[in-house]
Amino acid sequence: MLTYCFKNCIFQPSCILVNVFKTHEYLFYTFLSDSVTAIWDFGMKRFLRRIAAITAVITTALTFAACSEQESANTSTLTPAAVSNPVTGPDMVLVGGTILTVDATDSTAEAIAITGNRISAVGSTDQIRALSGDNTRVIELEGRTVVPGLTDSHIHIIRAGLTWGREISWANESTLEGALELVRTAASNTPDGEWLIVAGGWHKLQFDDQRLPSAAEVTEAAGNHPIYVQYLYDTAILNAAAMTAMNIANDADVPPVGVLRRDADGNPTGEIDGNILVFHALLSALPKPDFATQVDGTKELMAELNRLGMTSFSDGGGGGQMPEHYKPLLRIWQDGEMTMRVAYHLMSQKRGQELDDLKNLTQLVPQGFGDDWLRFNGFGEVIIWEMHDGSRAGMQFNPSSEAKAALRTAFGWIAENGYGMEIHAASDSSAQQILDVLDEVNAETPIADLRWSILHIDAASVSTLERMKALGVSFGLQSRLYTGGEALVELLGEDRARSAPPIKTALDLGLLVGGGTDALAVGPYNPWIAIRWLLDGKLISREITRGPEEIPSRTQALRLYTYNGAWLQFAEDDRGSIEVGKMADIAVLSEDYMAMPVDDIAGLTSLLTLVDGRAVHADGPYEDLAP
Ligand SMILES: [Zn+2]
Repeated sequence: MLTYCFKNCIFQPSCILVNVFKTHEYLFYTFLSDSVTAIWDFGMKRFLRRIAAITAVITTALTFAACSEQESANTSTLTPAAVSNPVTGPDMVLVGGTILTVDATDSTAEAIAITGNRISAVGSTDQIRALSGDNTRVIELEGRTVVPGLTDSHIHIIRAGLTWGREISWANESTLEGALELVRTAASNTPDGEWLIVAGGWHKLQFDDQRLPSAAEVTEAAGNHPIYVQYLYDTAILNAAAMTAMNIANDADVPPVGVLRRDADGNPTGEIDGNILVFHALLSALPKPDFATQVDGTKELMAELNRLGMTSFSDGGGGGQMPEHYKPLLRIWQDGEMTMRVAYHLMSQKRGQELDDLKNLTQLVPQGFGDDWLRFNGFGEVIIWEMHDGSRAGMQFNPSSEAKAALRTAFGWIAENGYGMEIHAASDSSAQQILDVLDEVNAETPIADLRWSILHIDAASVSTLERMKALGVSFGLQSRLYTGGEALVELLGEDRARSAPPIKTALDLGLLVGGGTDALAVGPYNPWIAIRWLLDGKLISREITRGPEEIPSRTQALRLYTYNGAWLQFAEDDRGSIEVGKMADIAVLSEDYMAMPVDDIAGLTSLLTLVDGRAVHADGPYEDLAP
């Protein structure tokens, strides 16, 4: 008890000692004046001995009294941090809510205390409210749900941020006319001749009339602007001004497999069909706005994600993402203006020279380089381009032995140097090929502690999952089938689609599954749309494809986007759950996630998002905290 008293309780605002002092102040002063007279009479040394003895006796007596009461109340939820400022108490308490902690037992609580940038207490409303001091900000949750800040463990924000400031997002549109109206509005607000870009993140089935816009509709809406509208990694629609500006007149101008659609007279219509490589090339050929706009766009995109309760993401690199494209984010980091914690990956755009390029790019960047806001997390998502199997789930993939050998060499170097790694595999057969190589590498350099993951595998087989488990390789799962499920059902049939992706099977096998969207080109960036898809197995058309046996629980789905995301960033000791000592990265939700109808989960937003204990987004009842 004594150690507890001295370590945890002395001078805490609710501590009896402080209160005794406050109520018996006059007594203290009488004692003081008496002593002065005594000094006059008896001499200093004797006086001081007397004072020391008396103080010791009083302190011990009062401490014993105080602590016996304290210890019983809350030993498990209070930390030294909570008493670091005895008079003012924690900086903020959030009370009267439902806290989904995502701790080891998925326990819930009613309230949280935050001191500095860390969670200093988790407990009942009474316990936490009692901690409040003079300067403690009290947030009344009024029954609202609080979750750890969400992490998207595979998304393409760095690339999207470059043009976000200038891009038109159709992600939240429900009518094609509404989408075209956004283009008209942008056209009227943008100087003539400047580009308008809709770079994916939408699906024709979200529109009332369930179709793509025609080239004529796009041209009309864009007015005097070149325009590029991308649909998944399937089709792009350009007007004449854009075709001219990009020198596209024939199929050869859209390598490697792009095809220009032509009208009855043989003239290109502006519609281009192709695959992920075609659209990576076209997207990266589009003119980028100036650096300041890239910086602002990246900040705006992070703010948009904060609005949805996100506090962190792992950037997957991506086709066309060059080293200079990281500069806007680095600038925001340098300026201390990050509102999200970012783990970024590097990949090479130099086909055939990937490993030399990666060695060069990372000469000065060891694994984990950075800080709590920005950290280098390894390589991906393409390691060797010849091992990239495109974006279609369910296809057969047969790489050359040279390609596998190149991957073997690259993986060997990455493992020997202790780097992280996440690799793209749209199809199960591609994952199997990659696992062949991983088996060889692991035999020489064990990889389990490197937290490597295989991404996508939307229709992964049980054998693939078991092989991943055996190697300690995680499953980077994204909501790609939400927009791509139709094509998978066409390819593999409804029966096979019932277990795509095999979420519950993976969890039951004990694989760590990271949740993500792989946005912004192939699908919506909204994590709640992705979480709803996890929970209902419905495509954007609202057609159900996945069977109930592969539907996780709400707590499991939440864990994919919180703790597991942090784990894949080597940050689970600092965040990913609401526990004492962890960083105060949390979101207060607009609705009751655990009880609300599944269908409504896609509409969830955050009313208050804190990162590092600081509000990065605040709305509704908490708008006065807005940054
Ligand atoms: Zn990706």
